[in-house]
Amino acid sequence: MARTMLLRKPIESVLLLVNIRQLLTLSSPAKGPRRGRDLRDLGLIEDGAVLSVGGKIVSVGATKDALRDSWLRKNRWKVREIDCKDKVVLPGFVDSHTHPAFTAPRLVDFEQRIAGATYEQIAEAGGGIRSSVEGVRQASRSALAEHVLGGFDAMLAQGTTTVEAKSGYGLNLDAELKSLEAIRDAARQWPGTVVSTLLGAHAVPREYEGREHKYVRIVCHEMVPRAAEGKLARFVDVFCDRGAFSPESAEHIFLAAREHGLGVRAHVCQLSHCEIAPLLKYDPASLDHLDHVSDDDIAALAAQSTMSPAYQTVATLVPGSNYFLGLGRFPDARRMIDSGVPVALATDYNPGTSPTASMPFVLSLACTHMKMTPAEAIAAATINGAHALRLAERKGSIEPGKDADLAIFDVADYREIPYWIAGDRCAAVIVAGVGNVAG
Ligand SMILES: [Zn+2]
Repeated sequence: MARTMLLRKPIESVLLLVNIRQLLTLSSPAKGPRRGRDLRDLGLIEDGAVLSVGGKIVSVGATKDALRDSWLRKNRWKVREIDCKDKVVLPGFVDSHTHPAFTAPRLVDFEQRIAGATYEQIAEAGGGIRSSVEGVRQASRSALAEHVLGGFDAMLAQGTTTVEAKSGYGLNLDAELKSLEAIRDAARQWPGTVVSTLLGAHAVPREYEGREHKYVRIVCHEMVPRAAEGKLARFVDVFCDRGAFSPESAEHIFLAAREHGLGVRAHVCQLSHCEIAPLLKYDPASLDHLDHVSDDDIAALAAQSTMSPAYQTVATLVPGSNYFLGLGRFPDARRMIDSGVPVALATDYNPGTSPTASMPFVLSLACTHMKMTPAEAIAAATINGAHALRLAERKGSIEPGKDADLAIFDVADYREIPYWIAGDRCAAVIVAGVGNVAG
């Protein structure tokens, strides 16, 4: 990360990447999120080229064909050309699950966990999500925005160009709205694309201990309407699990979100099993974690393949949290993929359980601990991440008409991206073709 530099000046609006050793377009005739064997199809072009104009991709193909194009030959002088010899180019990663609105790392939790405490023991002792709340409540909006932007920049340096960013460490109306405003402020200073999510129902705050339903009422009647009114969030999320919120609370919150025109998503089955069928009625864009799913849950997610992509639910897996919590067990990605569930991968960037901004590291974990192939991991981190945010019309693949968000990796073979553990091989990032370049 140290060698990556952000150049904050616009580059020319006509951009041509040539001599790309492996261009992973991720293009496919499949309309919805990728399932089963489709997840392995990277749409690979050897010695490829990509032309973008005004931030949109206009053509994709072999370098020799691109260079023969008559318009390009006449207008070569106005084209900024990047030689990608011996490099791999893929769509910028879509990190569809992050919690960047916090102010400090949780080092006490870290040491307690090393000494043997569990997630729930740490939470009961005053650590966990609630220990980040004080810092967020006291922080100024601009200080919080600085922290958020620091997270976004760390993600960009590792090839991420689209991020979903949740609130969730404020846990009262003012601090949740401040968190969403800080995310918006940071997004305005960052070249990539940010999708905001209200996660007021991340934990029951101390002052509502034992009165979950009262706090849920505040989420439904105050936070959701205000977030919608101020256009501060596109989604509403809820942590539905043992020790967090009940499925009934999740349904109340989903109803409120729907009433105010916001999409929904949820953290489910991280610590214990909960039946997901009742939540699927609300067409969540994604259900995340899924460490403890049943055969029925898997069948329900797989059965959506005939629905319009706008109603399908992606299973977003976040192995960084299993790794950091030192768990031996990881979500059963193999069973999900082989059963036809569309799987995405995300960092779950947060101070308690997954302090990583690196999608390549998450890809590596997916391969080594969840037995996903490198190709499946890349598709899960790009096109399926875009579906998990309902942004696949614009993001997640390199196809004419889509945003020119590209990551250039200094490797000769795409399998090296998850292979070099914590290796930082991202050489440069193109954001919508005309934005900033990291590299
Ligand atoms: Zn999370």
